[in-house]
Amino acid sequence: MRDPRYDILFTPVKIGPVTAKNRFFQVPHCNGMGHAMPLAHAAMREIKAEGGWAVVSTEECEIHPSSDLTPYVEARLWDDHDIPALALMCDKVHAHGALAALELSHNGPTASNLYSREVLLGPSHQVSKYGYPSQARAMTLHDIREYRRWHREAALRGKRAGMDIIYVYAAHDLSLPMHFLQRRRNQRSDEYGGSLENRVRLLREVLQDTRDAVGDTCAVALRFATEELLGPGGVELAEAQDIVGMLAELPDLWDVNLAAWYNDSVPSRFATEGAQEPFIDFVKKTTTKPVVGVGRFTSPDTMVSQIRRGVIDLIGAARPSIADPYLPRKIEEGRVDDIRECIGCNICVSGDMTISPIRCTQNPSMGEEWRKGWHPERIRPAPQPTRVLVVGGGPAGLEAARALGQRGHDVSLAESRKELGGRVTREARLPGLAEWARVRDWRVGQIGKLNNVSVYLDSPLTAQDVIDFGAEHVVLATGCHWRRDGFGRSNGLGIPGLADNPRVYTFDDLMNDRLPEGRVAVFDDDGFYYASVAAELLRARGCEVAYVTPEDSIAPWSVNTLDYRHIRKRMAKLGIEAIVSHNIAGFDGSTLTLENEWDEQRTERPCDAVVTITSRLPDDALYQQLLLRQGDWGGAGIRSVRCIGDAEAPGLIAHAIYAGHRYARELQEPVTGEVAFKRHFHTADPDDLRRETPA
Ligand code: ADP
Ligand code: SF4
Repeated sequence: MRDPRYDILFTPVKIGPVTAKNRFFQVPHCNGMGHAMPLAHAAMREIKAEGGWAVVSTEECEIHPSSDLTPYVEARLWDDHDIPALALMCDKVHAHGALAALELSHNGPTASNLYSREVLLGPSHQVSKYGYPSQARAMTLHDIREYRRWHREAALRGKRAGMDIIYVYAAHDLSLPMHFLQRRRNQRSDEYGGSLENRVRLLREVLQDTRDAVGDTCAVALRFATEELLGPGGVELAEAQDIVGMLAELPDLWDVNLAAWYNDSVPSRFATEGAQEPFIDFVKKTTTKPVVGVGRFTSPDTMVSQIRRGVIDLIGAARPSIADPYLPRKIEEGRVDDIRECIGCNICVSGDMTISPIRCTQNPSMGEEWRKGWHPERIRPAPQPTRVLVVGGGPAGLEAARALGQRGHDVSLAESRKELGGRVTREARLPGLAEWARVRDWRVGQIGKLNNVSVYLDSPLTAQDVIDFGAEHVVLATGCHWRRDGFGRSNGLGIPGLADNPRVYTFDDLMNDRLPEGRVAVFDDDGFYYASVAAELLRARGCEVAYVTPEDSIAPWSVNTLDYRHIRKRMAKLGIEAIVSHNIAGFDGSTLTLENEWDEQRTERPCDAVVTITSRLPDDALYQQLLLRQGDWGGAGIRSVRCIGDAEAPGLIAHAIYAGHRYARELQEPVTGEVAFKRHFHTADPDDLRRETPA
């Protein structure tokens, strides 16, 4: 079944006292559920183990109240009360023959302690990163001994929970052993500061402590950042090479990457598969211990190449395992075409950043495993297969058709254009967004394997067409369009003079290759990626581009997907002028009038065209017409008409995929009440969790 070229991916790897059954390693990743939603968390990790990952890790795990990460929700092992939640995960992961790994972390000055109200700790006195306005105090030698004790006790608790691999964390600028390495955070003059040997001391001690505490049965992994791209104030490659040399054989496993998180989980717009290789390939040459690295690997050929060329031993993955928890099994079963490849959009990251459960554009079941009982591969067969008409072949329509087909319905998908994919096809042609097309390609590939789904291109349907079609259920996924008139967050009444101005362009115009020339103002009242993509496109076509926004920063929401810094750098590199805190007061086709949001001063500048990226309107005319003809439904055999995705309310691609999937899941299913999912309720008794743990 399996292509023999991929055999090497399925050879076991010994990691200290434990053995990974293959080379697929789900490295730690945040998920916004953590200690607050342990049942949801354990179910999500279980599906990864079921999907064939040999190792399934937690996210970072707070070891003490002085490392409280509030409001972010991560794992927690402050005392024995926190053990059952992680024991539940271990049991579920072990049930599928996988190893469970625990990433212990004390975040020092990068904790917040907003909940615990403890004083922050750091190598030296310094400002805090997340708990501001406050500072961390310099740790005394007593504090260092206490920290080592907390770490050791957390390791023992992890072992009691059933963990097979215990991490020492020195990555992402998020944990004390790394903070002691950084000159900008460590100005100590004692044996823990100054020389490299001294700055490495704490990391060496904690590795040794962990090995002494749990090393008889647990492997000790070191997660280590080899480069921060911050110059001499941060960990730099040359020094990292010395550090790896000093500690080469101390951990049982090296897990290496770039810091901070925005340099590690880089969006696909700014980094390709395997981009970390030049920063980590030295590690394997320096140690005999196995090495795991990440690179948003979705191609088994790339994975094999990494191993054969001696870059890494284990294929580390967070995002590829989120987009497709079954990735290893699909390779093993010779079903490489079925892999649902990550598109690098980082909507998964935005869950953690917005303190909400993880979501994934490609995998609508991510985060829904427990609360909705959704499985990424399996779906309940339809109780009574019936005829369903899906109108619109964008993400919502494609996912609805695919999942309805998987359930056994007789599905017809009508798309007015000559190509499928809707917005993802059109956006994927813009600079940096090529991987968006994977949303379409996976679904089109899956639909092609179903003989109960028919696709009709070049088929714009009218209300009469829908009524004549003879389907029992109709779902409209007809998308949306961008507004031209400036209506949006900052202009609830629109902007006078824009709507009918031929020199005003929308994001749809750009996707349709209707492009402005000369001096162009891209007006962003949306805050995510679109405006910077538009600016990049127009700059490449020779326009002089100004990025105008009423916000105090360009693309503020992109902080949540780790795009922000990369966008800013790219805009700066392309010479795109950023005009923040300014609204558009008027545009006559040659002069743009801007108004400062704070002092209301107006300024004028010559301008040949404005691109408005403010808000969208649903293309729901067909739905509205069908509602008006509800009297005709019965005679035509139509039992329901629904409108989903951007045609219901414009949103992210992730929203559209979820809407399509949900529609397919819920068709013909009984309504279960007002709340369509299970929730966690706080209990005073950790025994409740123990009862959920299978014996
Ligand atoms: P979503 O993100 O909600 O899936 P998209 O805009 O990506 O929305 O996709 C909507 C798709 O529906 C587009 O490809 C569009 O061409 C198609 N469409 C819109 N109206 C009709 C119609 N009346 N008949 C058939 N297809 C339509
Ligand atoms: Fe990949 Fe986007 Fe899914 Fe994250 S949300 S795993 S980046 S497809």
